[in-house]
Amino acid sequence: MIVGRFAPTPSGDLHFGSLVAAVGSFVSAKSKGGKWLVRIEDTDRARSVKGADLEILRTLERYELFWDGEIWRQSERFAIYFEFLDRLKNFTYECFCSRSDLAPFGKIHPPSCVARVGDRAAIRVRVLDREIIFHDRIVGGFKQNLRAEVGDFVLKNRGGEPSYHLACVIDDHLSGVSEIVRGRDLLDSAPRQIYLQNLFGFSTPDYAHLPLVLGADGAKLSKQNKAEPIAGKNPRETLIAALNFLGYDTPADLTIREALDREICL
Ligand code: GLU
Repeated sequence: MIVGRFAPTPSGDLHFGSLVAAVGSFVSAKSKGGKWLVRIEDTDRARSVKGADLEILRTLERYELFWDGEIWRQSERFAIYFEFLDRLKNFTYECFCSRSDLAPFGKIHPPSCVARVGDRAAIRVRVLDREIIFHDRIVGGFKQNLRAEVGDFVLKNRGGEPSYHLACVIDDHLSGVSEIVRGRDLLDSAPRQIYLQNLFGFSTPDYAHLPLVLGADGAKLSKQNKAEPIAGKNPRETLIAALNFLGYDTPADLTIREALDREICL
């Protein structure tokens, strides 16, 4: 069974870029007779905006992107992530380094910690000096050496929250996700996630990283740069624009249902 998913962070309303990821993952899964799941990635309490999750779900419904099964909220699942994290004891270590300790090293944590003690520890996973290679359905071959390009990365932060990578890999596995269709900005995250899948003994889903929607200034649309929410736009026209962006020749005069059914081949 093909299982796809859309995993928004509820840090604000959906914008056109997030709609493209939602529609791309929906059409990909549904066109193969698969299921499409939605989960709310709200592990980072500071970034989550109250009520944004319900807004996002309402918007998906207005765009007739109906999900299968229950909505998972990651903020309600911390105990599950930490239980899995315990299984990686041989590969993880406590890290007391603060952001300022690490500043001289750029983004890459040095092979041993700078700070030896402290009151709050993060948990990092050790990575290897070896390339992770995978084939993306859209991008093609992609490789990354985690030791050289990423460094040992955080699985639980100093505030006691699971990291995006940890929660994402566990939820994709537990919900049986077989394909991940999402924005190209997350391509760089895939090798870390594949590394974790290997450590846990999970299978690796198929990946397809979609082209990014850029704003007039050439930058990626994001909630941070205040991309216009799609909630107030005409859903029919906006949905067809998202399908066209993905490369489908969807005619402009179809209803939402007709447009989705056409691309799903129903
Ligand atoms: N929560 C991430 C976002 O909203 C997406 C994560 C994913 O699809 O793996 O950008």
